[in-house]
Amino acid sequence: MSDQPQALWLAAQQTLRGMLKTELYNLWFAPVTARCLEGDTLTLEVADEFCEFWLKDNYLDVLRSVVSRVAIRPIQVTFAIRAADASSSASAPAEPVAETAPEAKPSKAETRIADAAVQSAAREASRRSEALFNPNNTFETFVVGSNNHHAHAACMGVAQKPGHTYNPLFLFGGVGLGKTHLLQAIGHHVLANKKNARIGYLSCERFTNEFIEALQNSQLPKFRKKHRELDVLLIDDIQFLQGKERIQEEFFHTFNALHDAHKQIVLTCDRPANEIQGLEQRLISRFEWGMTADLKAPDVETRLAILNKKAAALSVNLPEQVILFLANRIRTNIRRLEGALVRVAAYAQISGKALDLETVETLLREILQEEGKVAISVGEIQKRVADYFDIRLADMTSKRRPENIAFPRQIAMYLARQLTEHSLSAIGESFGGRDHGTVLHACRQVRDRMEVEAKVRQDVGYLEKQLTR
Ligand code: ADP
Ligand code: MG
Repeated sequence: MSDQPQALWLAAQQTLRGMLKTELYNLWFAPVTARCLEGDTLTLEVADEFCEFWLKDNYLDVLRSVVSRVAIRPIQVTFAIRAADASSSASAPAEPVAETAPEAKPSKAETRIADAAVQSAAREASRRSEALFNPNNTFETFVVGSNNHHAHAACMGVAQKPGHTYNPLFLFGGVGLGKTHLLQAIGHHVLANKKNARIGYLSCERFTNEFIEALQNSQLPKFRKKHRELDVLLIDDIQFLQGKERIQEEFFHTFNALHDAHKQIVLTCDRPANEIQGLEQRLISRFEWGMTADLKAPDVETRLAILNKKAAALSVNLPEQVILFLANRIRTNIRRLEGALVRVAAYAQISGKALDLETVETLLREILQEEGKVAISVGEIQKRVADYFDIRLADMTSKRRPENIAFPRQIAMYLARQLTEHSLSAIGESFGGRDHGTVLHACRQVRDRMEVEAKVRQDVGYLEKQLTR
């Protein structure tokens, strides 16, 4: 058995991240590392005694249960305090001490106190950065490939000279392609170089919630001051402004105030600004004032580079063919690629067995299914179903209604619903402009008939397997 349980702990961290509020996770759980796994006891390393007490008091049961679930056997959790280094010395006083009179020459003791205060301020800055951002989301851990080099370069430019290069910077791209990672990398970089920088990092949802709260408590001026006096404003997932007029109005003024003062604004979005429905034109045009950069799905070289970098960080040595398998099968989402690697690595470390592809496939069944969902198009489904029932492809979109055509068409709608992430109305659209009610009805119809007719069950089951292979 390996005594290097990094992958086990990383898999547990992924679960914890999904369970806990981001700030809570970033502050308390992200900085924790795994020291060793001896028998059934996992030792976690924390920064100081305070962290240990706090985690023990509040989260020991949760930690035990999450780690046990990942390891697929009961695991106990203990803590150890990380060896002190300059930036996190446990012996320095926790709080800065009162200021000395300006003209008085500081005594030795006072110098020591002042040093401690400087150290403490540095600690405070790194704490602040940890509290705001996931420590893993830095430029150092970001793999640059042809899919993202443009966005990466723009973010580096902004991080080095906030407010002076591209303003605003608008990043867009699909889920799991590194938008939040780059946004936070900018934040880390700015804070590391200028620890007093006032950085606002908010999801668009949080901006909305804070605004509503301020409105209810008559604290709008305070809300405005807080956001308009920042040096850098990082806003994630701006697509949530969609259709929210009051928030857009408020955001418009925040944007202008910061932009006029040459303060940096960085926005991320899951699509180009002009595709956000119900977004005011004046905002769209402002978002396009500076630089727009998109993140695409990584090509196979980039996927391999990401896998190798993460495997090295986890200190796991996976067979070449396993890495290739992952890179070939998971193409559309880097978060999913990472999740797959962590799961496989955790299994390899815990079981101590050599991995074959069959095991990998079993371990990743759900992840591969999810990946399959995105990859299948409605067109492909229609074609397969038409071939299988020996009808014309054109009948998938036609208005013809004989049972031998209408039912296969319903099956294709049902499969489109099951196997893709398209909405009911988008699916209806692909079937000759039918409405969402028709698709819903088709899905019910197929489900009902599957329950009572073995033949329908077989047909649908067979097609589903063919399509998700
Ligand atoms: P998004 O915000 O676009 O949905 P994230 O920034 O959260 O995606 O990225 C998803 C995961 O993939 C994160 O864990 C992130 O660290 C990782 N990731 C994305 N792009 C890269 C990259 N180029 N190099 C290394 N890790 C990456
Ligand atoms: Mg994101």
